[in-house]
Amino acid sequence: MIPAIDSKLPNVGTTIFTVMSQLAADCGAINLSQGFPSFEPPERLIERIEFHLRNGANQYAPMPGVPGLREQLAMKTARLYGRAVDADTEITISTGATEGLFSTIQAVVRPGDEVIVFDPAYDSYEPAITLAGGATRHIPLARRNDGFDFEVDWEALHSALSDKTRLLILNFPHNPTGAILTAADLNRLAEMLRPYPTFLLSDEVYEHIVFDGTTHTSLLSNDELWERSFVVSSFGKTFHATGWKIGYCIAPPVLTAEFRRVHQFTTFTVVTPIQHALADFLEESPDFHLDLSAFYQRKRDLFCRLLEGSRFRMKPARSTFFQILDYSDISGDNDATLACDWTRQIGVASIPLSPFCEAPLEANKLRFCFAKDDETLTDAARRLCSL
Ligand code: PMP
Ligand code: GLN
Repeated sequence: MIPAIDSKLPNVGTTIFTVMSQLAADCGAINLSQGFPSFEPPERLIERIEFHLRNGANQYAPMPGVPGLREQLAMKTARLYGRAVDADTEITISTGATEGLFSTIQAVVRPGDEVIVFDPAYDSYEPAITLAGGATRHIPLARRNDGFDFEVDWEALHSALSDKTRLLILNFPHNPTGAILTAADLNRLAEMLRPYPTFLLSDEVYEHIVFDGTTHTSLLSNDELWERSFVVSSFGKTFHATGWKIGYCIAPPVLTAEFRRVHQFTTFTVVTPIQHALADFLEESPDFHLDLSAFYQRKRDLFCRLLEGSRFRMKPARSTFFQILDYSDISGDNDATLACDWTRQIGVASIPLSPFCEAPLEANKLRFCFAKDDETLTDAARRLCSL
């Protein structure tokens, strides 16, 4: 007897990133939807991959990751965030940030537990929570200044916390709004969480893309929060290599041990030659990430400047490689419909924000990825200015 599928994720369709990238390809549109750069990874890094491919790094890496890569990450964590972490017991290499997020959620969330996310929330969180049997509690980020500045609604968070809150998921620098956290925010959070048995999962994949002279405040930098935190990041954004799908999770030893119980049966290990190449590259160029913010800030400024003559309203993004544009002066349509219509009509694909929110958003904003060469941005902006 062939059983009928009784879906564990009945409300999940194909991700909006796949849908919009496919539509862009079908229409021959400029794809500013799914977030990936149009630039290549550093040449030296590719050389090191070639080297390791030809020099025997083709079998399973150790389950937590190649030791040299974990050592480099430990040094970087100490340098950047002032936290001494042990490469053996506190760092695990994962298959992209996505697996780091998934394995953390499976490791700590049990049926009946509550997990808090801030809307708009990256789309991989809730399905992972649902598969673990948890309930997702959505708290919208508060909006200020005509809805362009997003920030944590601390009162709403405070009232949502309870003994049932097993996990709070943070994502700062925030995709898609560019919101960031300050050290004062982390202190406030530490105080608020004191009475609750709540872990933190901090998705920091855009840690090196923060603008206007501000730097990222990692959960790793806060002594009190660190004790309950899983900090996840990715090499994809930092090295223009989203297709490599290599990330990592940093957490105190007891949390890491539990993370690895799941990780070893999710993927067991991560692609070996690229781990070795990343270790070499981080050793040779430990400051590579320092140029990233200036690089993307120039892209952001170019894109915003090119759109000055348009009917969009905007405020330059504070972080990430995404710009939010408000289209209320152009159309009253819903964001998901409009993103598809404009892909077909003017040949520019974007991402609507409503799929990342539980409660209907006043749907007048779209997200555009500006991690593209100047010609592509110029062409896209020209089309957007015609609206
Ligand atoms: N979290 C956020 C907020 C992201 O934007 C992304 C995608 N870039 C990921 C996680 C997934 O990262 P990875 O591709 O390394 O799995
Ligand atoms: N993180 C990327 C974005 O926000 C997409 C990743 C994916 O396609 N799953 O656009």
